[in-house]
Amino acid sequence: MAELAKDGTEMLIAAAHGMQQKSYAPYSDFQVGAALLTGSGQIFTGCNIENSAYSPSICAERTAIFKAVSEGERDFKAIAIVGGKNREIGDLCFPCGVCRQVMAEFCDPDEFMIVNGRSEDDYIVYSLREMLPHAGYVKGGNDKDSYFFGSDKV
Ligand SMILES: [Zn+2]
Repeated sequence: MAELAKDGTEMLIAAAHGMQQKSYAPYSDFQVGAALLTGSGQIFTGCNIENSAYSPSICAERTAIFKAVSEGERDFKAIAIVGGKNREIGDLCFPCGVCRQVMAEFCDPDEFMIVNGRSEDDYIVYSLREMLPHAGYVKGGNDKDSYFFGSDKV
């Protein structure tokens, strides 16, 4: 399992907290920020963006991942996530199932780290596999020969 340096982890959480300030969450009043670290050391950030029709809403994690992919990045090492009301970090904020599946599309399940922060120096780190065991894949995705739907990257 990959390890993240403590200072790097704290920097990612700080970036996620910065993005939490930009959240548009008038319906839930639960603001989330995410910061995604790429293999080249770049950081892409995202916040949750809600919509009055609910379905068009998007999570902070997918905002960050889609921003990165749209800029040509597909090599991801870690993502930090913070969330809470009043734009403050509350308790741990874990990614939803949809975001976990999007992570599985691009990230190595054992190498990609998901940092769930309570504060910049209080956090829990899980691998993607720990957070999404037995992910479903369709053959022809990122690794064209290895997966088929219902299988895991084992
Ligand atoms: Zn989500």
